[in-house]
Amino acid sequence: MDLRTGLVGKSSTADREVDLVIAGGGPAAISAALYAARYGIDHVVLESYQPGGQAALTAWIENYPGIQRITGSQLAEKMKEQAQSWGGSFETATVTSAEVKDDLIEIRGDSNRYMARFLIIATGAAPARLGVPGEDKFYGRGVSYCATCDAPFFRDAHVMVVGGGDSAVKEGLHLSEFASRLTLVHRRDSFRAEPYLSNKLLSCDNCSVMWNTTVKSIEGGEGVEAVILDTPEGEKRVDLDGVFIYVGRKPATEPFSGLVELNGDGTVSTRDIVGTSRANVFAAGDVTDNGLRQVVTAVSEGARAASAVFELLQ
Ligand code: NAP
Repeated sequence: MDLRTGLVGKSSTADREVDLVIAGGGPAAISAALYAARYGIDHVVLESYQPGGQAALTAWIENYPGIQRITGSQLAEKMKEQAQSWGGSFETATVTSAEVKDDLIEIRGDSNRYMARFLIIATGAAPARLGVPGEDKFYGRGVSYCATCDAPFFRDAHVMVVGGGDSAVKEGLHLSEFASRLTLVHRRDSFRAEPYLSNKLLSCDNCSVMWNTTVKSIEGGEGVEAVILDTPEGEKRVDLDGVFIYVGRKPATEPFSGLVELNGDGTVSTRDIVGTSRANVFAAGDVTDNGLRQVVTAVSEGARAASAVFELLQ
């Protein structure tokens, strides 16, 4: 998919044998493709129908060294252009399974099958769900997991953000530029987000925070109209127009559950940063248990994984 036009170019390739499959389309995968291309490794990136990963859904990135401020989608697009300029090869496919077959790794996409000597798992993570009544019913009708995508629909509206991490606070700040009123609800009495972002939200004119508060349900008719909250003062109804949920991420590792060892939280269990429990299979970015989940660490791990493949091919 072209990040600017949103057009999806469906791959026409049938079964294909390559040295390296890179599963995923975010910064870790793109960086792995850049390095693989420059190492001359025969590779293909299988990016899903929503390329750019979580980074592309981030309104502003201000902590990627060398770039003062850029939207997540622009950064992802620039990275992909750079990788392609060196011969990075991208196909649109959602990986559905991966297993070892005859010394190779068989990776199935939604329509194609790939046989590879090496695999880099860089499928990232999807937003975690809150799991309250009304969340599914009003998804796309007031409930959202992407402020970057949906903030313009909530101009001059009252919106709520749920969560206390970097994503909640950062995307809350982005929303506050559109909404007339932003209420952030957090289950504890302090943020997990970095202090710079937290202080910015606490001093934002149209923002307020409800501490020690959880969402019991999301109510409405055609769209979201209110939320029922559990607050230290008891149950409370807050009338509003939208709810943005940022309560963490769920690693996209299901297709690889039989191939490599996963941790209890679904992340790929890594050794030496990008190695996995399976020889010739590497992992990079938010899909791993490497802790710091930033674009800068994702690109570093993508590079390391491609470099490890290059060494083995030598
Ligand atoms: P996160 O750091 O895991 O934060 C999730 C937040 O949601 C936490 O505050 C958590 O509360 C809350 N939460 C979890 N389950 C909940 C539930 N069932 N009900 C209510 N609240 C719940 O997730 P994230 O903010 O998406 O960030 C993920 C990673 O990406 C982090 O490593 C983060 O640093 C990184 N990131 C960085 C930036 C950046 O610009 N630097 C931007 C976005 C993300 P508790 O605090 O009580 O656990």
